[in-house]
Amino acid sequence: MKFSDLNIDKRILKSLSEMGFTEMTDIQEKTLPVALDGRDLIAQAMTGSGKTAAFGIPIAQHIERGKGIQAIVLTPTRELAVQVATEVKKFSKNSQLRTAIVYGGVSIEPQISELRHAEVVVGTPGRVLDHMQRGTLRLGGIKIFVLDEADRMLDMGFIDDIRRIISALPEKRQTMLFSATMPDEIVYIAKRYMKNPARIKTQTHISKHLLKHIYYDVRHDEKLSTLSGLIEKEKPSLAIIFCGTRRMANVVERYLRGINVEAKAIHGGLTQQQRSHIMDGFHRGRPHILVATDVAARGLDIKDVSHIFNFDVPKTAEDYTHRTGRTARFGKTGKAITILSKDDHESFRKIIRHIEIERGILDFKPVPVRMQSSYTHSNRNAPRRRFGNSWER
Ligand code: ADP
Ligand code: MG
Repeated sequence: MKFSDLNIDKRILKSLSEMGFTEMTDIQEKTLPVALDGRDLIAQAMTGSGKTAAFGIPIAQHIERGKGIQAIVLTPTRELAVQVATEVKKFSKNSQLRTAIVYGGVSIEPQISELRHAEVVVGTPGRVLDHMQRGTLRLGGIKIFVLDEADRMLDMGFIDDIRRIISALPEKRQTMLFSATMPDEIVYIAKRYMKNPARIKTQTHISKHLLKHIYYDVRHDEKLSTLSGLIEKEKPSLAIIFCGTRRMANVVERYLRGINVEAKAIHGGLTQQQRSHIMDGFHRGRPHILVATDVAARGLDIKDVSHIFNFDVPKTAEDYTHRTGRTARFGKTGKAITILSKDDHESFRKIIRHIEIERGILDFKPVPVRMQSSYTHSNRNAPRRRFGNSWER
C-alpha cells in the first residue's frame, strides 16, 4: 500500500515523496488508518520499522499552524528527541508546522522562545516537567499525545514523570503508545490512561535472513584482542560496540585507539554537546566505530550500521533486541556479534532463547590484554597476568 492510498493531506504527501517515502512499512500500513481516525492505539514493532511516521503523519495532519501547542511526543533520550523532531519537521514542512525540542543538559532559554511559537513539542520527560512548572509549556491545548519507546522510558524510571505529564493533559485527546517490546507495565498504562486503544503488533524480530547472530566464547582477558581481531576480519563499514558501563566503554575506546582503530565512546557521562558532536560524526562515518552504553544508543536511527558488537552481554533479552536492532534496518543486512566468557554463559542462554545464533570460531589466536583505563602503543597486546575484574560491571 502507498501513502497516497490514504486520506492524507496533499502537502504531507508532497513532503513524504520529497523524503523518498512512497510505500508504507508494515507498521505504518496497520497503524495509520487507525491513527488518522483519531483513535487511541498501542503499537508494538521492532526498531527500524518506521514507527515515527506512524505518529508523525497524524500529527502533521491534525495540527493547525498558529493555534498553539497541540501535540506532544515524549521520548526517553535527548538524541531520540532530536531525531523524532527532525523527522516530524520533515513531514510537516509543507504545512509549515513549528516543532520545539526540549531536553535537559542544555540552556533552557532558547527552548522557551521556541515553545512560544510551536505547535508540536518533542521532549524528554524531565525537561518537559521543568517547562510545565515554569509555566513556559502549557498542555491545555493538546490534541495528540505520543509516548515513543515506551518500554525504554519505563526502564529508565520515567513512570512518575509520565504520570504527572499525563495528568496535565486534557481528557479529550488522542493517546498513542509505541514500543519495541510490551512488558506488563505498558499494558497497565494503556488500560489506565487510554480509551479503548487499538492494539497493533507486527513482526518483533528482524528476519534471520537479514540479521545474522554469532557469538564467540573466549577467556575474559581475551575479550579485547578478540574484539580487535574481529574488527580487522569483519572490516565493518559502521559499527556500534555495546558495553555495560561507561567505564568499560572508555576502556574499549582507549584500547582501540591505542591500536589505531578510529573509535569514539558515547555515554551519559559526556555533555550534550560532546554527544551531539560524536553522533554527527558517526552519521558521516567518522568515527566509523562507536563504543556505546545502552542508554546512549537507545532508539537511534543510524543508517547502514553493518555490525553490532556486544562487548558486554546485555542484561535482558529486550536489551539484546534493542542493541541488535541498530543494524539490519530497513531491509539492509547486518551482523550481531557477542563476545562472551564463562561468567556470561547462564545469562546469555536466557537472552538468546528465541534467537537462532551460531557459535563463531576464531581464525586467529586472541592474546590476553589487561582491561585498564589507558593504553600506550608499547604495551598493547603485551601478555598480561590475569587480573581481578571486580570494578568492571
Ligand atoms: P522506528 O522508530 O520503528 O525504530 P524509524 O521511524 O526511526 O523506525 O524509521 C527507520 C528509518 O526508516 C528512518 O530512517 C526512516 O526515515 C525510514 N523510513 C520510515 N518509513 C519509511 C518509508 N515508508 N519509506 C522509506 N523510508 C522509511
Ligand atoms: Mg522510533
